[in-house]
Parts: sequence; structure tokens; C-alpha cells
Amino acid sequence: MIVNTCGFIDAAVEESLDAIGEALAENGRVVVTGCLGAKEGVVAKVHPAVLAITGPHDTEGVMQAVHQHLPKPHDPYIDLVPPQGIKLTPRHYAYLKISEGCNHRCTFCIIPSMRGDLVSRSIAQVMQEAENLVNAGVKELLVISQDTSAYGVDVKYRTGFWQGRPLKTRMTELCRALGELGVWVRLHYVYPYPHVDEVIPLMTAGKIVPYLDVPFQHASARILRLMKRPASAEKVLQRIRGWREICPDITIRSTFIAGFPGETESEFAELLAFLEEAQLDRVGCFAYSPVEGAAANALPDPVPETVKEERRARFMALQARISAAKLQRKVGKTLKVLIDQPGIGRSSADAPDIDGVVHFKGGKAGEFADVLIQRADEHDLHGRRL
Ligand code: SF4
Repeated sequence: MIVNTCGFIDAAVEESLDAIGEALAENGRVVVTGCLGAKEGVVAKVHPAVLAITGPHDTEGVMQAVHQHLPKPHDPYIDLVPPQGIKLTPRHYAYLKISEGCNHRCTFCIIPSMRGDLVSRSIAQVMQEAENLVNAGVKELLVISQDTSAYGVDVKYRTGFWQGRPLKTRMTELCRALGELGVWVRLHYVYPYPHVDEVIPLMTAGKIVPYLDVPFQHASARILRLMKRPASAEKVLQRIRGWREICPDITIRSTFIAGFPGETESEFAELLAFLEEAQLDRVGCFAYSPVEGAAANALPDPVPETVKEERRARFMALQARISAAKLQRKVGKTLKVLIDQPGIGRSSADAPDIDGVVHFKGGKAGEFADVLIQRADEHDLHGRRL
């Protein structure tokens, strides 16, 4: 068994270690990979019986360990086939990773220390992979990275070539090109740089789905400064208004941190007021987790655990009301959905695994369908296929 781990926050470390334990109990022969593998000694200390520990993106290391412990039977036919990437998603959607690492130094985050500075994949390579996926039947591409809007900064937006024409290594140009492939293109982890505004018209034009996953983290100017994050609540609200003017159907997903060190009750109230005003569609909130190595741990006045949790719960209760009201407004509308399995699909507002779904009768995975929405509950929509 190969266990892919995350080492981002303490809760993720614990979950990863638990998963390794379960795999060991279940199977006994375990290879560990992913971010936690890069943290020396953490895995070995708790689970000395694992066969090998590799780090993020070490496909080679994983394959070596697998071949060492489970030698491949010789097969003259299979041996001649060049190795392919492993796709873990269903046939009809796929993640398209455009870069690795991050140039920011948000004080609560240790990703740059685990994954390094931003390294963008060449635009030719990304577009080729996207084309291959679409040719293989993928209907939705989920663009991911640690910092999608920074794509190409490290290579000074170098010009590459796709289908014989020049193309800059830059988010807007990438979105425009992906928009030509005729499938859903959804953007994740979009750091709120000013040039994000450029992709909104592509959403209005139907080139990419009107969905933006843009982590704002907080609304108080002081807390954002302490986090080393950009912008102030007022500016963000203005931008959101602008995006909605250009693309009224846009779905905005974001994440926030409650109980950041030093956060006062009034700063938290600012965050709630922002949330009320912003009326975001999908929101995640984490209680601040003092992950080892994060600069924010050294800040004064840490918020007690119970207060952090209580603030997170208040935040989520407010957002649950906002999200539910937004879903109610979809009743009576007809939505195009991509079917994940018979009876369950997702509209352009729903990313797989993290957002809600649309329930209806029938259908086949990978097909698109029009569904008339008849009712909404707190997270999901229910309707009839037209
Ligand atoms: S932009 Fe994201 S990945 Fe980069 S340091 Fe900040 S939180 Fe971490």
C-alpha cells in the first residue's frame, strides 16, 4: 500500500500518521510518500515498520521501493509500454497541476519550506497534458497549484508554443488557451493578485467556469499584515462587487483562519461583518493551527484553544446561513450539471469533493445534463433532469 501524506497543519500530520497505521494494520507492507515524508524522522519515529519513506513528487522513489519489495513479473508486452502518469480521479475530471511551490511567506504556512519557491511547468507541457486528458474523455479540468495566479512569475512569463502559436506562461493566457478545449475549466488556489480580474470576462464568455477559489484568510487589516497577506477588507469587497458586475453567476469560494495569534474580539467581529457583506458562496474556516516551523507561532497573545474553536463555530454558523440562502435562490432555475455517478452531478458552482452536489434521477457518469432545481437543503440541490 502506498500512503500519500500531508504535513501542512498538525491535524493533517495526525491524520496522515493514522492512515499509515491503518495501512500497516491492514496490509503490513507500506510505502509512504508526500509532504510528511519530507519531514525527517516524523514518520519513522511513529511507524518504524514502513518499507520506505519518500517525499513529495518522488514518483521515482515510490516506484523503486515498490519494485524492490514487490518485484514486477516479467511480461514482454507490458514491459515495452512506456510508463504513464497515474491518474487517481474518475475518467471525466482531472487535476491539472501547473506549478509547484510558492514565493509568498504567509506567516501561518510552511508550504514554501516543504515545497520550495514557485516553479512553473512550461505552458507547452501543461497544454499538452490538458489536450491529452480531454482526448481521453475528461470533461472537467481542475487547475491546481499552491499559487495559481503566480503562474509564470519565476520564468518571467516566458513565451512558449502550443499548436504552433506563441503563448505566454501566464494565468490569463493559460485560461484563454484552456478555454478553447471545450471542457469545463475550474480555477483553484487563486491568490488575490490584481490580474485575477482579467480572467473574470473569460467566465462571462463561457470560456472557463464562473468559479473562483480565492483564499482571503481574514478581513482585519492588522491581522492580514501579521499574516503577510495582501489587501484590506474594503478593497476585497470592492473587487468582489466588480467581479459580480462583470459575471453575475460567479461562485466564489474562500478559506479563512479564526483565532490567529493576537486576534481580538473586535478584529474577529470585523471578519464576521466582512463575511456578511461579501456573501461568498462557499467558505471553509480553520481554527489557527500552530504548525511547527510557522513564523506566526512567535507572535504575541496566542488565542486560547477554546476561544479559537468558539470563533470558528460562530463563523461557520453565519456562513451556513449565507450559503443556505444562496442555494435557496437556485430553486426554480435550470442548471447544467456534469454527472459524477447516476443520480449525482455537479453544477459549475460545485468543485468535486469540497462543494455540494445536485441530486436527480438517472444519468451516466461523465455526461452533461440539464436539471431543473426543485429544492435545496443546507449543502445540496435536488431536482429533475430535463
Ligand atoms: S500563498 Fe498559500 S502556499 Fe504560499 S505561503 Fe501563503 S498560504 Fe502558503
